[in-house]
Amino acid sequence: MDKTLDVSVAIIGAGPVGATLAATLAAAGVSVAVVDAAPLPPMELPEFDGRAYAIALSSKRLLDAAGVWDRLPEAPCPILGIRVADGRPGEAASPLSLHFDHAELGEEPFGWMVEARALRVALNARLPQAPGLHVFAPAEARVERAADGAVVRLSVGGTIQARLVVGAEGRHSPLRRGAGIPAARLDYHAMGIVGAVAHEKPHRNMALEHFLPHGPFAQLPMHGIPGHPHVSAIVWTERTAIARAVLAMDDAAYGRQIAARMGGHLGAITPIGRRWSYPLSAMHAARFTAERLALVGDAAHGIHPIAGQGLNLGFRDVAALAEAVIEAVNAGEDPGSAAVLARYQAARRPDSLVMLGATHVLERLFSSRLPPVRMARRLGIAAVDRLPGLKRFFATRAMGLGGGAVGLLGGQGIARVG
Ligand SMILES: Cc1cc2nc3c(=O)[nH]c(=O)nc-3n(C[C@H](O)[C@H](O)[C@H](O)COP(=O)(O)OP(=O)(O)OC[C@H]3O[C@@H](n4cnc5c(N)ncnc54)[C@H](O)[C@@H]3O)c2cc1C
Repeated sequence: MDKTLDVSVAIIGAGPVGATLAATLAAAGVSVAVVDAAPLPPMELPEFDGRAYAIALSSKRLLDAAGVWDRLPEAPCPILGIRVADGRPGEAASPLSLHFDHAELGEEPFGWMVEARALRVALNARLPQAPGLHVFAPAEARVERAADGAVVRLSVGGTIQARLVVGAEGRHSPLRRGAGIPAARLDYHAMGIVGAVAHEKPHRNMALEHFLPHGPFAQLPMHGIPGHPHVSAIVWTERTAIARAVLAMDDAAYGRQIAARMGGHLGAITPIGRRWSYPLSAMHAARFTAERLALVGDAAHGIHPIAGQGLNLGFRDVAALAEAVIEAVNAGEDPGSAAVLARYQAARRPDSLVMLGATHVLERLFSSRLPPVRMARRLGIAAVDRLPGLKRFFATRAMGLGGGAVGLLGGQGIARVG
């Protein structure tokens, strides 16, 4: 592209959050360009790679409206029950475990397990088909922002003029740094080990969150794959030194470590696919906006994976920003104006701070070995199990149906602008 492209919104970063924002805006008829430093097709790893997201009901509604959910290459696996347990695997069946059943809330599952690869395939299929959406990948973007608009110069040639630029480049967001927005950080000195296991017995769509002394261990139901009819994803938090040792083990020893943490409820287990690991830290940007700039997804915040909510939080940013932009375009307002950005920040920053605080408190509470803390959390688990109102509160939060689940997150479709 040698000439200048004029769009309402230029999104830098086509990860799951940036790409979903692009698809949502394009579905509403808002002109949009999305730029990623990496080419998109290699993000669709050709084989089963064992990574999966727990997608909440509110996020599913957004992906539906954006035309992404229908393009998933395989049906996502519904989560119909969640068991939360504290302590060692043998104690999981004690009265001090907490059971959530989706039927207590209605017909919808708590959420769906979607393979990271499948979400990428769906996004890659959606982006080129959306009218008014321009994709530049791979391309480097040099962004200049000013009071009257933004200019994005592409390394592949050409220039994009936009009313609003969105930073969706993940945790190390160059746009956030370039705007001088400070970020608070917290290192958990722990790693997340992510992968998949095949097991003997069916999971019956039940997830398990097991709070162990060094951090939580989650088993999340997935659909079977050829040769392995019963499969689950695992997300396991471990102190860095132990995690490194575990990651270096052969498959048999690695499988024994998983079995020791998961318990025997699914029979013998075999690790499948690749092993992934991530250093765990939390991050929160002091502001989500600057002149002509909005931050979304991991560029704005990163949380502990304890509740599997990181991407869901990013999808809530997408819904809020898309709604603010669509409303502005409909009203003949400038979608990158200070007023629109203030509306976005007011809608999102408090909610993401609450989630950061909640996951941090959970992490601290469940990793404490102090006897009084252990006793309190066990009493807490027992108390929540006996109080239907409180249980319902936690369950609706897990589904992403807290107070803010209106508009796109509430299942309202996208109305086209104009
Ligand atoms: C162990 C672990 C388990 C998790 N499990 C879950 C879960 O079960 N459920 C859940 O909801 N979340 C989960 N998360 C969180 C989730 O992975 C992230 O929140 C999510 O990937 C954020 O998406 P994003 O699009 O904001 O950023 P990213 O996925 O980081 O994408 C950023 C994109 O920007 C591009 N980019 C980077 N720099 C530039 C640049 N300079 N110019 C142009 N493009 C650029 C990159 O190529 C990439 O495509 C987990 C995280 C961890 C660590």
